[in-house]
Amino acid sequence: MDAVRHDASEPRFASQYAAASVIPHNAAITDESWHLQTSLRFFEALRSRGDAGVRTQRHYEVFEWPQLVASYAEAMLGYRVLPVNGEGECGVPRRADGVPVYGWSFQTYFADMPRYCAFLSGLYRGLGGELEKTGFCDVDTLMAIRASVIVNCGGAWGRTLWGDACSSRYVRGILVRAHAGDMPRNRTTGEICSYNYHPAPSVYCRSGGRPADVYFYPRSDGWILGGTRLESTELSDSEDSNVRPVWHGETWQGPVIRLPRDGSGDSAELAVPEPMLMLNRELIRRLTGIDLKDTRLTAMEGFRHQRQTVRLELETQHGRPVVHNYGHGGAGITLSWSCAIRVAELVGDHVGACADLRHIEAKVRAGLA
Ligand SMILES: Cc1cc2nc3c(=O)[nH]c(=O)nc-3n(C[C@H](O)[C@H](O)[C@H](O)COP(=O)(O)OP(=O)(O)OC[C@H]3O[C@@H](n4cnc5c(N)ncnc54)[C@H](O)[C@@H]3O)c2cc1C
Repeated sequence: MDAVRHDASEPRFASQYAAASVIPHNAAITDESWHLQTSLRFFEALRSRGDAGVRTQRHYEVFEWPQLVASYAEAMLGYRVLPVNGEGECGVPRRADGVPVYGWSFQTYFADMPRYCAFLSGLYRGLGGELEKTGFCDVDTLMAIRASVIVNCGGAWGRTLWGDACSSRYVRGILVRAHAGDMPRNRTTGEICSYNYHPAPSVYCRSGGRPADVYFYPRSDGWILGGTRLESTELSDSEDSNVRPVWHGETWQGPVIRLPRDGSGDSAELAVPEPMLMLNRELIRRLTGIDLKDTRLTAMEGFRHQRQTVRLELETQHGRPVVHNYGHGGAGITLSWSCAIRVAELVGDHVGACADLRHIEAKVRAGLA
């Protein structure tokens, strides 16, 4: 199946920028543990198929200072804590010899997005779904659609359609794609691996000295290097899909490296925070033995939409039922299956169809068989 390529002309499609790991980073959702357990079950079914673009790999969450283990971590496969004395373990990412490292690791599900999205399209069609590509629609156009229920999964622009009393913030992520070829392996353990690494703030930090992390995920279409989280309370909602959203929020004040914009095919450039790139490069060199110094690098940017809590509810608009499903922050892929179940339940209740978790899971498993 063809992989879905990154479409640089559509900056409003966050799913293109997720790497994506199945970890509830920055998730704010009611009943988080149910969501995580449900999603993990679906990702396991996808992984075991072998051709869905989903795999598991050891993922390290590393801090250069002592850290309490995040509440979700113990639910993850193969979870283990790094020694509390900061010595680390064989194969742990570390910026330099002698730097103390704390944190934990586990086997994360990883959705290799270009392959995974292509697989999902095929699965959906196989189950009788239809896909139609359109431009940005206004509310009148959406209301004219002949459907019993409209589901609003408009991502960062979901709240602009029918309004939303809950506050939002947008987190801009600048990513680097290293066109590096083969899947790299941890040179100590031989495993495919990934990390989120939190260095001392003197090495790399957010505005006001707040700690920042950098991250690395190898993928079939390049190795993804990230770690820029710039915040804003607003994002322009231009209706012209060729116009990039206007950024009103935080900007990176430190040194930058200018890289060609990913997939743009022209000379457009994007400024990447230098410490984010250099720290990732050093971590990857030490971890895999591969130096990206002479590797072709391109950059892209996406927007995480962080709502106070994920919006999952049915409301009536102009006499029509609308189910909202947006505001997943940095965990929309992680929570995708459990949120889809909730949406199906809300739609099922409304139209009087059987759509509980068992029924949907059985249907998806049949599609996967
Ligand atoms: C840099 C970055 C890294 C990330 N990494 C991860 C990760 O590792 N793991 C993880 O779980 N999550 C990650 N995320 C978060 C994840 O990408 C999002 O939460 C998720 O993709 C949201 O999916 P969605 O379908 O709700 O929204 P989107 O993917 O944004 O899709 C919304 C769609 O609705 C369309 N749309 C909006 N309004 C209209 C309209 N009026 N008319 C027609 N179409 C409209 C948009 O064009 C878009 O196609 C990351 C996000 C970013 C930006």
